[in-house]
Amino acid sequence: MVDDKVIQRAPSQHLGPKYRPDEEKPSATVSTKVTHENVTVLPQTPQLIALLTMIRDKTTNRADFIFYSNRINRLLVEEALNHLPCLPQTITTPVGRPYAGVQFEGKICGVSIMRAGEAMEQALRECCRSVRIGKILIQRDEETSLPKLFYDKLPGDVAERWVLLLDPMLATGGSALMAVDVLRSRGVPEDHILFLNLIASPEGAANFAQKFPKVRIVTAFVDQGLDEKNYIVPGLGDFGDRFYTL
Ligand code: URA
Repeated sequence: MVDDKVIQRAPSQHLGPKYRPDEEKPSATVSTKVTHENVTVLPQTPQLIALLTMIRDKTTNRADFIFYSNRINRLLVEEALNHLPCLPQTITTPVGRPYAGVQFEGKICGVSIMRAGEAMEQALRECCRSVRIGKILIQRDEETSLPKLFYDKLPGDVAERWVLLLDPMLATGGSALMAVDVLRSRGVPEDHILFLNLIASPEGAANFAQKFPKVRIVTAFVDQGLDEKNYIVPGLGDFGDRFYTL
């Protein structure tokens, strides 16, 4: 326990290639299990845990932090795309044979919650060429301590798109919940929103599941809890500072 906050016990798992026995594989902390149906946690592979180990390490410099967080963001975007509906599409190959494939059913766009969410835009652009990206700026109001909307600029047809909402750290969920409210006020159906983040707290995931059970969360890891300053623990510190300014 830190103050009155609940810190979950961290599960661990032997990590390494399948052909090695467990005794020869190191044991590492893996994601806390969550039971909310709307939350998808990336498979806890040795690769993902090694990437997370790099970005969690306080001695990792900014260049490496950017490089390795981009790699995880790419995995998140690839997974999120699997949650979009598709239609049948049969094509003909160069040897004249039909192939029964699929194509995505709808249009997408990204919406980043400034500033940390902007760090996830590159991965989205790498996977979805010339994707439209909107922005939302929400900051804590000095007087009330509550999240306040300062700015938003969204594609005009956002209501007809599937929205990949981007913010790397889901702590209490205050800003992200407000961002979903903004999207809904512009006509985006709740079940057309996919919220991508690198690390979520159990509290943040639960808040989302309770308020917006149809928003799909795709995360790389659910951590153990929040500290007294609402930082995720063990976490990685302030994502925006480490990506942009430290
Ligand atoms: N935002 C961050 O950058 N880090 C946290 O731990 C929580 C919110």
